[in-house]
Amino acid sequence: MTGLALLRRGHVEVASSMKTRVPNIYAAGDVLGKYMLYHAAVKESVVAAWNILHGKPIYEVNFNSIPMTIFTEPEAAMVGLSEDAAKARGH
Ligand SMILES: Cc1cc2nc3c(=O)[nH]c(=O)nc-3n(C[C@H](O)[C@H](O)[C@H](O)COP(=O)(O)OP(=O)(O)OC[C@H]3O[C@@H](n4cnc5c(N)ncnc54)[C@H](O)[C@@H]3O)c2cc1C
Repeated sequence: MTGLALLRRGHVEVASSMKTRVPNIYAAGDVLGKYMLYHAAVKESVVAAWNILHGKPIYEVNFNSIPMTIFTEPEAAMVGLSEDAAKARGH
């Protein structure tokens, strides 16, 4: 696909709307090389789908509220800023 901006290791560059630099092409999930987590892929793909259905990029992914889960037994999960990240932002 010509015009796709490929980052290091072949990851695809998108705006927060999941839109690539190619008109009408959106990307989501591990191919972005960002979070590489299940719930991030789901959120990104839902936002991409909504924007595709609307015909223009009006929705954006808010990465502050995506849960991170570790599929272990027992499972572990977190959502929101870590204590260190919150302190770094002055909270
Ligand atoms: C071992 C392992 C453990 C993980 N543990 C966790 C965890 O604990 N918590 C967590 O949140 N995430 C975990 N992940 C990450 C999570 O699985 C991914 O972030 C998520 O599946 C990404 O979804 P995706 O749709 O982007 O990619 P995928 O789920 O990989 O889906 C991509 C699909 O595209 C298909 N495909 C590839 N090439 C082509 C092609 N040329 N044509 C057509 N189809 C193609 C593939 O077969 C695949 O079905 C783990 C991943 C691995 C590998």
